Amino acid sequence: MTDFVLINPPLSAEVRYGKLAGVGNRLPNLGLAYLAGYLRAAGIDVKIIDAAALNLSAADTANMVAAERPKVCGLTAPTLAIDAVAEIAALVKLCLPGIVTVVGGPHVTSMPVETLDAYPSIDYGIIGEAEIAAVELFEEVANRGDPRGVLGLVFRDEGLVKVNPRQPLIENLDDLPRPAWDLLPDLATTYAPSPQSAYRLPSTILFTARGCPYGCTFCDRSVFGRKLRMHSAGRVFEMMEHLYRQHGIVDFAFHDESLLIDEARLVELCRHIQRSGLPISFSCQGRVDQKLTPFAVRELAAAGCWQIAFGIESGDPNILRILGKGVTPDDARAALDTMHEAGIATKGFFMLGSPGETRKTLQATWDFVLSAQLDDVMIGFFTPFPGTQLAKEIDRWGKLAGGYGQMSEHTVTFVPTTLDPEYLERLRRRLYRRFYLRRRVIRQYLRRLREPSSRRYLLHAAVSFLRRMLLPF
Ligand code: SF4
Repeated sequence: MTDFVLINPPLSAEVRYGKLAGVGNRLPNLGLAYLAGYLRAAGIDVKIIDAAALNLSAADTANMVAAERPKVCGLTAPTLAIDAVAEIAALVKLCLPGIVTVVGGPHVTSMPVETLDAYPSIDYGIIGEAEIAAVELFEEVANRGDPRGVLGLVFRDEGLVKVNPRQPLIENLDDLPRPAWDLLPDLATTYAPSPQSAYRLPSTILFTARGCPYGCTFCDRSVFGRKLRMHSAGRVFEMMEHLYRQHGIVDFAFHDESLLIDEARLVELCRHIQRSGLPISFSCQGRVDQKLTPFAVRELAAAGCWQIAFGIESGDPNILRILGKGVTPDDARAALDTMHEAGIATKGFFMLGSPGETRKTLQATWDFVLSAQLDDVMIGFFTPFPGTQLAKEIDRWGKLAGGYGQMSEHTVTFVPTTLDPEYLERLRRRLYRRFYLRRRVIRQYLRRLREPSSRRYLLHAAVSFLRRMLLPF
């Protein structure tokens, strides 16, 4: 018997990545691992069921929960997974009528009332950071108390949904226990990052911070807010070393956009890695206006940073303005040139079909992608996630083309007034084709084939990608 079971809901690669399913990733849910580590440190017996990684059906997942007979079942739900999560919660309640179900994550945080109104199988929602609220909820449930006083909780009260004020933010991230990677399926063999973002295997993801102070109007920061809180360089390195020694991880992808924001912390981390002599590599994400000194760029390269991914989004200045990026295409070119000169591969994230998009602005993105110093790209579609500024004013810019079950960047869920979904799909396919069939990009992937640990998976991804995106219609 377990106290608290956490579930990463089943979501197929097809649902998440659409036509790019063959090159999509299967990543550990690091947020759940942080939460499990926190619950365990509070003396609560916790298990994680990663139904997505294990390809479990909703019924299989519910049966596994039932076998543990927990008091509380916690589920995490991005918008794309909210229907699946509610279904599992309902099945779990059929097996264990007395169980308490609680859902956290971006969807319930940005739409707390709507979520509890729509899904009766969900007893509670947690808005914002989940750690403290989850422990306090569990204590109330275990002691037959009243959870309605717990900060950060959403609940029903006499037929109405009530939303408590949030818990205070965890100011010092280093106070958090180490994520409970040991409660996930085997890190090295179960998960597979996208071939675009892992230099070799086994590879995994890390966060160095929570919260983001920038003002991008398409980005949902409802869970961690705008206040930036960072792990220290020492703590980030300690997690890398632990993952290398205990789980055999040799490549890391930092998934927050904060590694480059504080040059002193960055250089300190690079020094830790260099001094350790560990045979590891890493990639990170950054903003094009996070300018580093040449010294810091050299330190990054010397520490094993093989790729930096920038959220460039568009090649058109007006679209960047609507997206609230606060940068221009020239800023992006300059950042790409700097990393290219330092020998660090570059990747750009782009979105097609943003509010205000026209054939002319799409042409600007096309021209940018094919002329900038880019070694890789991820091209998605603008998605009006609940909780974002643009979602609130979306009717002004065009029309929605799908429900929550389709809300992925790889499916057209919003169509700007002057465009149609087929055109956006076709354009993405043509742009991928033009980008990847260039000598420079092919050479870069051929070089990576020299790394034996990634050979098979790169080839598999290439075949799948060619079949879905590059062959003629
Ligand atoms: S897109 Fe990146 S930089 Fe912009 S607000 Fe979101 S996390 Fe911050």
